[in-house]
Amino acid sequence: MSEFSPIVPPPDMLNNDEHFMREALRLARKAARLDEVPIGAVIVHQGRIIARSWNQVETLKDATAHAEMLALTQAESALEDWRLADCDLYVTKEPCPMCAGAIVHCRIRRVIFGCPDVKGGAAGGFWNLLQAPNLNHRCEISQGVLGEECVAVLKDFFAEARRRKAEGVPHKKGGAASLDAFSEAPRFDGP
Ligand SMILES: [Zn+2]
Repeated sequence: MSEFSPIVPPPDMLNNDEHFMREALRLARKAARLDEVPIGAVIVHQGRIIARSWNQVETLKDATAHAEMLALTQAESALEDWRLADCDLYVTKEPCPMCAGAIVHCRIRRVIFGCPDVKGGAAGGFWNLLQAPNLNHRCEISQGVLGEECVAVLKDFFAEARRRKAEGVPHKKGGAASLDAFSEAPRFDGP
């Protein structure tokens, strides 16, 4: 046994983007089971997850209940501070403009996302609000972490929703309005 045997820290002490994105993916799959557009997010502070959330727009009947928004509120509660300057946010899909605006307000250090959204993304996909020169905070951005898995979760969900719509099976929660939303849904083009 070498005296230089490495000490392996527990997984959540590692700065491991794939490790944390896996947790965001787990939450995205949970959203899919609840008939929500499957997007998951976690916020990490000093190597620990302090917020976990998934998209809950249908459940809460709230268009602002995106995974990132709910995770930001949780993290602010956990730290008892709206400044999340030492926090990194992991999300399976590129944030929309609403979430990107909130992320900048909370001063998140780094945003890591899985699949880009070239039509509606605000982290460089269509806009780049996370690094806008006129705002008072800019985030580091990493993209493509477990990107294929993140795209697959969304594509599978929308394929299933279209199949159900074609067969006339009503959506469990949202009814016709939700099915209409699905028809315009795959706004991510994927990597
Ligand atoms: Zn959003």
